[in-house]
Amino acid sequence: MHDALVYLNGEFQSLSEARIPVLDRGFIFGDGIYEVIPVYGRNMFRAKQHMARLFRSLDAIGIPNPHSEETWMTLIQKVMDAHPSDDQMVYLQVTRGVAKRAHAFPKEVTPTVFIMTNPLVLPSAQVRADGVACVTMEDRRWLHCEIKSISLLGNVLAAQHAAESGVTESIQFRDGWLTEGSSSNVWVVKNGVIMGPPKDHLILEGIRYGLLQELCEQHGIPFESRKITKEEVFAADELMISSATKEILPVVRLDAQTIGNGAPGPIYQQLYAAYQAAKHA
Ligand code: PMP
Repeated sequence: MHDALVYLNGEFQSLSEARIPVLDRGFIFGDGIYEVIPVYGRNMFRAKQHMARLFRSLDAIGIPNPHSEETWMTLIQKVMDAHPSDDQMVYLQVTRGVAKRAHAFPKEVTPTVFIMTNPLVLPSAQVRADGVACVTMEDRRWLHCEIKSISLLGNVLAAQHAAESGVTESIQFRDGWLTEGSSSNVWVVKNGVIMGPPKDHLILEGIRYGLLQELCEQHGIPFESRKITKEEVFAADELMISSATKEILPVVRLDAQTIGNGAPGPIYQQLYAAYQAAKHA
């Protein structure tokens, strides 16, 4: 692995040298938030939206934003510039900081700020052409899924369930209603309409949520945010997942049942092309 330059609490250093104290509340409690920003040709894609979500996450858990948007951009830029890859995924994490272990917020504490970047590895053309398989599972996470929390145990267990099932992603349902993947949003196409679950506390609003909505508007594809049943997911003409590192991926098999005609559909093809145009614009 390339020993990338990272930013940690005011210093730029190599990843292998970066250290945090064991009493960091991120380590002790998972008390922090994170963000993942895709970079194409050394340009951050939808940076404004990612920054806005970072600030919302900080706000939601009462960590004072340690930097202005401008400073964040400068720090990220420096980490990006030092990396050899043109296409990257920037990872930012802010925890409440280091303090004696006690659950409630410490009085005086400085947030821990960490920035790293890695090469962006997108699904191959073959994977996109074939489509991927997913499995369903009950969503047993907490009820603040709108916060991009580093406490990801529920998501980790969902991802492991997918890995052990030999598929790409777990698609989660809460009491029969579609929520999201272990690290992706889920989209259902029926009769030419693309639908996603409402943007509420039960899902993370992916940056691709707003992007897909915009792309649909531009291309005259009807878009609906509404509650979606498990039956509707299985009866979909097309099913897709989206995330920074997957972009949009067609799902053609769910729990060994074929979705639609078992091949990536026309709405996927259209949105994928629109996505590629948007990221190169
Ligand atoms: N939901 C969850 C739980 C995720 O982890 C992700 C990926 N960060 C998403 C949705 C998709 O978000 P984005 O489009 O910003 O990558």
